[in-house]
Amino acid sequence: LNRRLAEFGTTIFAEMSALAVRTGAINLGQGFPDTDGPEEIREAAVRALRDGRGNQYPPGPGVPELRTAVAAHQQRRYGLTYDPDTEVLVTAGATEAIAAALLGLLEPGDEVIALEPYYDSYAACIAMAGGTRVPVTLRPHEQSFRLDLDELRDAVTDRTRLLLVNTPHNPTGTVLTREELTAIAELAVERDLLVVTDEVYEHLVFDEAEHLPLATLPGMRERTVTIGSAGKSFSFTGWKVGWVTSTPELVSAVRSAKQFLTYVASGPFQYAVAEALALPDTYFEEFRADMLAKRDLLASGLSDAGFEVFRTAGTYFITTDIRPLGESDGFAFCRALPERAGVVAIPNAVFYDHREAGAPFVRFAFCKRTEVLADATQRLRKAFA
Ligand code: PMP
Ligand code: GLN
Repeated sequence: LNRRLAEFGTTIFAEMSALAVRTGAINLGQGFPDTDGPEEIREAAVRALRDGRGNQYPPGPGVPELRTAVAAHQQRRYGLTYDPDTEVLVTAGATEAIAAALLGLLEPGDEVIALEPYYDSYAACIAMAGGTRVPVTLRPHEQSFRLDLDELRDAVTDRTRLLLVNTPHNPTGTVLTREELTAIAELAVERDLLVVTDEVYEHLVFDEAEHLPLATLPGMRERTVTIGSAGKSFSFTGWKVGWVTSTPELVSAVRSAKQFLTYVASGPFQYAVAEALALPDTYFEEFRADMLAKRDLLASGLSDAGFEVFRTAGTYFITTDIRPLGESDGFAFCRALPERAGVVAIPNAVFYDHREAGAPFVRFAFCKRTEVLADATQRLRKAFA
């Protein structure tokens, strides 16, 4: 293994899902729903397979039906106009979109500012692209994790090329506010930075929180690469369909890398996802309401068990602090949790460069059936309360 990748080892999601399988514990670690997306969309995939649509290499940028549907979705939801032919790229999940964006846009030695804790593939992809990651830590503040705007400004140097943003944010559940996003946008314009924004949880925002795409802010559309995912928006994480929207120049740069990573992917599923993106708004409303109820169930169970629970404004994750349980090392806690409580969770420390800043935080996923969450919270209460 080369030096660029050596520090990353095995992704925590594989490690913790294997632990769940080995121990028979309830897996609230890796974020995937235990209920598949809409039946009619599965039928659409079956139809595409049967009708021979997408069984051979689809076009490099993605099938026109899906590119058109992505553009229509960005228009309808956010008033953002993208040309399906030049400003939309279909990828093998958001994971490939992140990789291709960084590989296609970074020069070796470029600095990339990422919000810490960051989704694990960011660090690995920055490294593969020869970039240097510069983490800006989100800090606990009134039951949520917030961005310190001065810290963000201070992190920019002459070598900063790109800001890698994620909102709604995995693993903290933070949704960046208009004020925070405006500050990010102003900084990007002032210092002439590119922005890659991972908005895969765009449809999962709760209570008074609102998802505001960075590309909608002044001066941002022309410098922002926006990433979405059918895995997250439609509960088909195994289909690996994602997309990028940006200017023709930036999309073309991302595509230059993408063509040598997978070339293309997910032929028949692309047609099905095109239909998913055109589902009426009631689909998204029900999806959100369902996840909101699950969030509340898990949050109150964790709280009853004695965890400090941070407020999840978006995503399907809850970050907790284990110190009220008399614990301080999230890694050790998560390794012992299957034995102790029959539950698997993720230690947030893996998402930090400043590991000590993330040490006491542990993430639980709530994209699971109600009875599974009820069972898991019962087990946690029994083990800790
Ligand atoms: N970004 C974030 C923040 C995620 O949590 C995930 C995991 N789903 C991804 C990207 C990857 O998405 P996909 O499954 O579409 O590759
Ligand atoms: N995004 C999901 C999570 O954060 C899992 C993705 C993965 O397994 N790579 O749990």
